[in-house]
Amino acid sequence: MAAEGAVGPMPVAAIFADTQDEPAGVYKWLDWLETKLPYPVYRVTNGKLSERALLVKTSKDGRRYTQTSVPYFTKDMETGDRGKIMGRICTADFKLKPLLKKAKELAGVRRAEKELRAIQWIGISLDEVQRMRVSGMAWTKNRYPLIEMEMTRHDCLRWMGKPGCPPPPRSACVFCPYHSNNEWRRLKNEEPAAFEQAVQFEQAVQFEQAVQLSKAHTQNMTSKPFLHRSCVPLSEVDLSTDNERGQSLLSGFNNECQGMCGV
Ligand code: SF4
Repeated sequence: MAAEGAVGPMPVAAIFADTQDEPAGVYKWLDWLETKLPYPVYRVTNGKLSERALLVKTSKDGRRYTQTSVPYFTKDMETGDRGKIMGRICTADFKLKPLLKKAKELAGVRRAEKELRAIQWIGISLDEVQRMRVSGMAWTKNRYPLIEMEMTRHDCLRWMGKPGCPPPPRSACVFCPYHSNNEWRRLKNEEPAAFEQAVQFEQAVQFEQAVQLSKAHTQNMTSKPFLHRSCVPLSEVDLSTDNERGQSLLSGFNNECQGMCGV
């Protein structure tokens, strides 16, 4: 929209924080988008999330932990009690931190800058309005152009639906537990390699013999982690049903995330 003058002023740059675990369709679409923009798109990364989320470390006092974590659903295999890992450590580590680092670099911010140096646009649509936040830093302000224009996700897809524009896929890690059943189904049917990657990731997270490479073996993990809300292995979940099992697009994520992940 900025490139076509529908919103202004023209941005200096765009930043894409890459968890290195997006489906191939997202990277393909971004490749296409870059050819349409008159400003650079910086791809920044903090590494591969799926590897970091599996790597178990041991603290000096012997506690095992993973440096980052994904918001898994959990099930106590003795009592059957189900829960959820709260917070958004992966978003902070793999989205917010690298985005902020690059934004500071572009704005020339070194230390505690008191002057306003940059306006950062965040592409949250009207149906995600509760994800808006103030930046909390004097050198930057957040701006939400789609909300200013009262555009919903549907409006965005319609705007992009012109000839020659491939439909934008939802940007999120292939294994994100916040996927709705619709998205899991889409991955399974349209990007089977990405779905299989999610299945393999869940199996690795749960793998009880891999003490050095399993979230299930960390100190704060007494239940079994799952990617699907039902706490059924992803490979066995019946995704053909219309019942979304409460995993709608708005399921619990909107209040937690500042809109850096596209789930
Ligand atoms: S898309 Fe999901 S798994 Fe990936 S960083 Fe965001 S919240 Fe975490």
